[in-house]
Amino acid sequence: MSLPVTSGYKDINSDMQMAPIDRQKATDYLKRFQVEFDETVTALYNDKFLLYLRLFSSESLDFVKSACRAEMKKKINYVVDISFTKHGIVHEAQCECGAGEGPFGHCKHVRTVLYACLKFVKTGDVKVESSCTEQLQAFHRAKKHTGSPLKARDLNMVGTKFVTLRTLIPDLFIFEMPLIIRTTFTTRA
Ligand SMILES: [Zn+2]
Repeated sequence: MSLPVTSGYKDINSDMQMAPIDRQKATDYLKRFQVEFDETVTALYNDKFLLYLRLFSSESLDFVKSACRAEMKKKINYVVDISFTKHGIVHEAQCECGAGEGPFGHCKHVRTVLYACLKFVKTGDVKVESSCTEQLQAFHRAKKHTGSPLKARDLNMVGTKFVTLRTLIPDLFIFEMPLIIRTTFTTRA
């Protein structure tokens, strides 16, 4: 299938209009291949296997691009492309996986993206691993500070212990201390 340049796509958000695809139109497409939105598809969608959902609108078609993580090898993603007519009918579809060859791909990844499109048209929202906004925020976000602030009493912990011991057994402690520490501790005390 012929596709627009990747840079023309935009991450989908609730302000965007997508071709009015609905369950009936999507099912009509899937029926041609005796497939449906089965449990695998809804699980992939709900478990956020889709990494993103992007849209490009041309004059005659709406192109949706997505990537779906492979179920077994999660480091592998398959890019999925679906085009819709302006009436919301699936025009073409393809996926990078072995079962998703275009122009009429209907593998579980294509079906999951199709399902996501349905959800988006119906609710204006879609579940993907990361939305555009989150990615941008992460880019600018300061790194999380993992250390805890130092407390004054921790900074002087050695001295504190000495003071405590000295308070308990003053004479014994003084004689056992090396001169330099004794000096320090005396100063602090
Ligand atoms: Zn696939």
